[in-house]
Amino acid sequence: MHATAPTVAGSRVPQDLLDALCAAVGEANVAVDPDVTAAYSRDMMPLAPSGKPLVVVFPTDTAQVAAVVRACAAAGVPIVPRGAGSGLTGAANAVAGAVNVVLTKMNRILEIDEGNRLAVVQPGVVNLTFRTEVESRGLFYAPDPSSYDWCTLGGNLSTNAGGLCCVKYGVTTDAVLGLEVVLASGEVLRTGRRTVKGVAGYDLTKLIVGSEGTLGIITEATLALRPKPAAPCTMVAAFASTEDAGEAVSGAIRAGLVPSLMEIMDATCIRAVQAHTGSSVLGDGETPAAVLIGQSDAGGALGRREMDHLERVCVDAGAVFSFVTDDLAEGRMLLQARRAVLPSLEVLGTWLTDDVCVPRTEMAALIAACERISGEVGLTIGVVGHAGDGNMHPTIVFDSADPAQRAAAQVAFGAILDAGRALGGTVTGEHGIGRVKQDFLAGEIGPVGLQVHRAIKRALDPAGLFNPGSMFAAD
Ligand SMILES: Cc1cc2nc3c(=O)[nH]c(=O)nc-3n(C[C@H](O)[C@H](O)[C@H](O)COP(=O)(O)OP(=O)(O)OC[C@H]3O[C@@H](n4cnc5c(N)ncnc54)[C@H](O)[C@@H]3O)c2cc1C
Repeated sequence: MHATAPTVAGSRVPQDLLDALCAAVGEANVAVDPDVTAAYSRDMMPLAPSGKPLVVVFPTDTAQVAAVVRACAAAGVPIVPRGAGSGLTGAANAVAGAVNVVLTKMNRILEIDEGNRLAVVQPGVVNLTFRTEVESRGLFYAPDPSSYDWCTLGGNLSTNAGGLCCVKYGVTTDAVLGLEVVLASGEVLRTGRRTVKGVAGYDLTKLIVGSEGTLGIITEATLALRPKPAAPCTMVAAFASTEDAGEAVSGAIRAGLVPSLMEIMDATCIRAVQAHTGSSVLGDGETPAAVLIGQSDAGGALGRREMDHLERVCVDAGAVFSFVTDDLAEGRMLLQARRAVLPSLEVLGTWLTDDVCVPRTEMAALIAACERISGEVGLTIGVVGHAGDGNMHPTIVFDSADPAQRAAAQVAFGAILDAGRALGGTVTGEHGIGRVKQDFLAGEIGPVGLQVHRAIKRALDPAGLFNPGSMFAAD
């Protein structure tokens, strides 16, 4: 029975609050034991600040979430919503003295409407579970973050997550028709629609998507589905310089190609994957400066034509090696090599993945900037990313036990964002702002943008209940 453990970091949970939370979700769904609550204090970003939660609750339906919010509002205690904790910005990190609301028990797929090609889900459904279920009905849910086997749809909605197939299908918001959200007042807001079109009123759905738990708690989502795409045809090309790889990406865009996926790995990532996995799928011999992996899900001869065309573009840009394959196992192996980048870099030390999106014509310049920054701070930086949309994930490797290296990693993290901005980019393509990029958000949106953000926050959450200190500081 968690609720009987009375203290967290020396601070007593106020009895009124504890009673109200137990009444809201049942005692079995309330944790105050520090050994339990500690597991919910951080996400996957190593450098973000975090506090110790006072209480962690696990509601199972919307009414319970609303009751939790009302109890916290009455006690003046902040709330941090949380999905699986796979985030890379500290956005789900606990604030000292907060109640963490973990949505993983709200994990039911409520409806799959094949006639209208939509689904209604609770926020704790794991992305892969949902994808697999809709695929079994010949349908497709496009947003596919690399963490899809454990992150939740609620987390995806709140971060506006991207993934490998954004180049063709966009980010999470492009697949959302409507939401149910518990507001700071405890009221339940419904946004959006079930129809294909609909323009009534402000687009509150798009406002909530990507709000990182700062405006309310998403308790249900209506998601748009697509027909299941055809089996992919895959192209791989290796380049002697990152400039040539960048030219190939721009060439593909100019040629009007819309692959379903186009990923890049630099030499550091290729070497790390080969060393860790022993795989030679990215080519034997001298390590190329960059590899591009493209896929088309257009199907049959059309998919093959698209990838043959992409290969020609790569060869024209100076590719030193390339091939196209319809073989599904071969295509899967190539993508596995791409997905193995983070585990492979982890062997070398703690990884810190940045997230910066630049105009596609500037991708090679960003990779060059990362090489320069790597030299300046004396740390390895491998660049992997979604080349088709310019969203790069330069990944810094450091020794987290060494304060000097931690500081250097922090410097590199910011320098990469500055370099991205200087190239006309944005400080996040998909991971969000959280507790590590507040200053960079303020720099990007400017004082008027920040004022509007704060006005929206004040209007929806006047007491600053939800996720305080995340995304931007209060006035
Ligand atoms: C190995 C690895 C690979 C990754 N690859 C990608 C990738 O390709 N693309 C990408 O975009 N991200 C990626 N991520 C980051 C992460 O998986 C995503 O940000 C994901 O969307 C977070 O989901 P989650 O369930 O873990 O949410 P959490 O990390 O628990 O929370 C994320 C944010 O959402 C809020 N939140 C969660 N649930 C709710 C809710 N129901 N209502 C309101 N707010 C809520 C939290 O307060 C927090 O602000 C990766 C992470 C890892 C570790």
